[in-house]
Amino acid sequence: MRRSKKSAHLCFKANPMHPNYSEILEQYPTFKNSELKNRTFLPSQIERAIKKLKPPFKVNLIGQSVENRNIYSITWGTGPLKIFAWSQMHGDEATGTMALFDLFGFLSIESDASNWLKNNLELHFIPMVNPDGAHYFTRRNAQQIDINRDFLQCLSPEAKILKEYFNKIKPAFGFNLHDQDTLWGIRESKLPATLSFLAPAYNKQLEKGLSRFTAMQVIADIHQKLASLLPGQIGLFDDEYEPRAFGDNFQAGGCATILIEAGGFPNDDEKQEIRKLYFYALLSGIFSICTKNYLNFNEADYLSIPLNTKPLFHLLIKDATMPMVKASIGLNYQEIIDPISRQISKLYSVEDIGDLSPWAAYREVQGKQLSVIGNIKFGNLANFDVLEEGQLLFGFRDGIIY
Ligand SMILES: [Zn+2]
Repeated sequence: MRRSKKSAHLCFKANPMHPNYSEILEQYPTFKNSELKNRTFLPSQIERAIKKLKPPFKVNLIGQSVENRNIYSITWGTGPLKIFAWSQMHGDEATGTMALFDLFGFLSIESDASNWLKNNLELHFIPMVNPDGAHYFTRRNAQQIDINRDFLQCLSPEAKILKEYFNKIKPAFGFNLHDQDTLWGIRESKLPATLSFLAPAYNKQLEKGLSRFTAMQVIADIHQKLASLLPGQIGLFDDEYEPRAFGDNFQAGGCATILIEAGGFPNDDEKQEIRKLYFYALLSGIFSICTKNYLNFNEADYLSIPLNTKPLFHLLIKDATMPMVKASIGLNYQEIIDPISRQISKLYSVEDIGDLSPWAAYREVQGKQLSVIGNIKFGNLANFDVLEEGQLLFGFRDGIIY
């Protein structure tokens, strides 16, 4: 513990306005929050992590969820420029919360970079807006309401808390932290959209007034910093206006709002690699704002980020002989959480059968004389075995792989 703290202390000594990002990433294991190990952590674990934060972090209890779980705000820094980041409005979207706690670890290290940020920024965070959703690992809150469609009416206490906090601090910049469906990807690369961005629209005409334009510039700067780490895996989300969503309304209120969405990454179901890149995106966004480096970017840089599409299956079995046809089978899974063990199981369904050559997958199965035996029914849970030259490769029972 002591050793890692010391080595971390020695870092980030170069010009704080131009941080050495590769050095920061090398040091990442020394400041990441290693108590958050997977996406299914409980609100009580977040509460414990919040209580461990030391000054100059300030923690405030700002309200309670429907089921009386605590919601906290955290502030850091004494500078004039206010930035607000909030995560887990959707309870099963935990990557942004992990990245925030990694950021808190980075900010806790005494360094030229953190001192400079501290003197120039006032950072505000709500690291788990929807603790009931996190407890049940569901998108919605305990009233079954999607908090990110509740800005106008504030039917949920969580939406009210978020809105009131925003109105109280009036930040200049906002980071709205989410996870997206892992099936989003990039058509050109046929790779998952591991991180996606959006400068949300603030009206139906999708105008690009000052706050939105500024958000686009910050995203373009983050994209430039991230591109070499995630080639072909960064996407731009659809910019349809949603009048009930928080990002769209904060943007309309003059806060340059940046939406970040964590998608999928091969062999990273628990998003432990993605959270590091998410932290990196957040940190580079904060530096971009603090240095005003975003002013060097324009709308064309933002629009050069490829649009998210869905070119992926979770599993693609290629050219397999079935009872009636030789074709490919595309399967996707739904995640089901066990409320006691908090283990996630995957329930596979048959999404498509036929010529699936335009698609890629997280896992592709091909081989000599592939055959499939069992109940292969479009739209149903997978219930079949996959064989290569007559030998069993794997099979499904009621959607579960074995
Ligand atoms: Zn979300």
